[in-house]
Amino acid sequence: MAQHVLAILNRPSADAPAHDPAAPPFTFADPDSPQLTVLDLAATRGDGIFETISVGNGHPQALEHHLQRFAKSARMLELPAPDLAVWRDAVHAAAAALPPAPEAFVKAVLTRGIEGGARPTGWVYAAHSPDFTRQRAEGIRVIMLDRGYRHDVESTSPWLLAGAKTLSYAINRAVFREAARRDADDVIFVSSDGIILEGPTSTVVYRRGDGLYSPGTGLGILDGTTQANVFRYAESLGMQTAFELTTPEILREADAAWLVSSVRLAAPIRELDGEPFPIDHDLSSAINEYLRGLTA
Ligand code: PLP
Repeated sequence: MAQHVLAILNRPSADAPAHDPAAPPFTFADPDSPQLTVLDLAATRGDGIFETISVGNGHPQALEHHLQRFAKSARMLELPAPDLAVWRDAVHAAAAALPPAPEAFVKAVLTRGIEGGARPTGWVYAAHSPDFTRQRAEGIRVIMLDRGYRHDVESTSPWLLAGAKTLSYAINRAVFREAARRDADDVIFVSSDGIILEGPTSTVVYRRGDGLYSPGTGLGILDGTTQANVFRYAESLGMQTAFELTTPEILREADAAWLVSSVRLAAPIRELDGEPFPIDHDLSSAINEYLRGLTA
């Protein structure tokens, strides 16, 4: 079996013409051969959207939530609406085509296609996940960085696409380099008016007493699928869960905190802005165990 898998969507949206009307909705292709034209707006402008879905023992996890978020990102970018039935099938097929593994991922990408054309480009790519055992067990060092706009940017300036999962991730990568320069592993963005937002590829979750909290939506941040599952799990343990407007001071006072995301799952914060931060090892392991075992 191939170590990684690619399926190209022939008809990523029912609202746009198929690439080949006679072909099936998606077909497998060789991920080691070039497939994308240099004229695709994904390559020239980062003009598209994506989702990265965890696959646990062959099961795509939180897939419906990911698909809903994919559709929302498409609406925000005014892309042709993804045909979710086709994308769902393609994600399942790509996950099933991988050699069995406890942890893998599928990345779904929809772009505006070739400039001036009417057909969006779509593909799903699947591979085994990197090993995140150490980060999950020992924690990560995190710094807080100013994102440079206010926490209400989503309503004041929707054209900035804050809260859409776009392919324009150069900034989300640059902050990791900034973190490395400051001897840290990851970042939490803070709004220019002092509200905790999210990580460059993760959602902030923290524990205070018996409660689990997250900054929530409407702040120009992603509605995290992992955070939703972590809250579900915490509620099953009888914990309170809530969204709250969070400041760096509130976060610093927390009993424990995590950056949660698909694939890496829950990474406990062990250092915040250079200061030691408490890890809740028991809850961390329980959350990761739960997330790894999800079958849908
Ligand atoms: N916020 C951002 C900016 C992200 O890129 C991601 C995931 O990549 C998340 C949050 C976490 O989302 P999820 O838990 O659905 O993977």
